[in-house]
Amino acid sequence: MSIAENVKRIRAELPAGVLLVAASKMNGPEAVREAVAAGVDACGENRVQELVEKNAAGAYAGAKLHFIGHLQRNKVRQVVGVCDLIQSVDSLELLTLIEKRAAALGIRQDVLLEVNIGGEAAKSGVAPEGLETLLLAASPLEHLRVRGLMTVPPVCSSGDEARRYFSAMYKLYVDIGQKKYDNICMDFLSMGMSADYREAVLEGANMVRVGTAIFGARDYARAQ
Ligand SMILES: *Cc1c(COP(=O)(O)O)cnc(C)c1O
Repeated sequence: MSIAENVKRIRAELPAGVLLVAASKMNGPEAVREAVAAGVDACGENRVQELVEKNAAGAYAGAKLHFIGHLQRNKVRQVVGVCDLIQSVDSLELLTLIEKRAAALGIRQDVLLEVNIGGEAAKSGVAPEGLETLLLAASPLEHLRVRGLMTVPPVCSSGDEARRYFSAMYKLYVDIGQKKYDNICMDFLSMGMSADYREAVLEGANMVRVGTAIFGARDYARAQ
């Protein structure tokens, strides 16, 4: 199946209003352009260097650009104002650095807060218990806007197990929305990847990040 066919097939499975982000890591500008031409809503990159290179090659023209990976503090300057959405903000320190850079550029940067819903030690994301502190810190910042939540749940052996994590995320998303913090909008709930985007959507995701099912298996050996 071609990239275009994959995008078309996945799109047909998604209810109207669910945004499709092509997780483009390790796929070159040509492949990314194909996905954009086939109508993905955004491209999501994990690594700043790849993002910068593909952006310079014009790979994302016609789609939004999201950063979805772990953001190192010294790379903040390279994504603020370049990405439409930074999906993976998980610390006060990152919020502060993004605010500062966005202020210097005179822009307002949209971000999502990444939640470590499975409480995994090795994973990025703020623990659910730490989310309120982060929201309260983000609320007065004038050069960024929190637009929702993102998660990468633990690897699950069944769809039902995945759904429990997604459902816990949806509950956080709704609860926060009801609290009506200033400057915090719960517009986007970004969850679900190739293996589980169907389950994520059933539990309320309105943004899915799909890589393998669009581009095919990533060739880690070749990339080294
Ligand atoms: C790679 C990646 C995806 C997509 O994963 P697939 O299993 O290839 O669909 C989604 N989100 C993040 C944060 C990723 O790093």
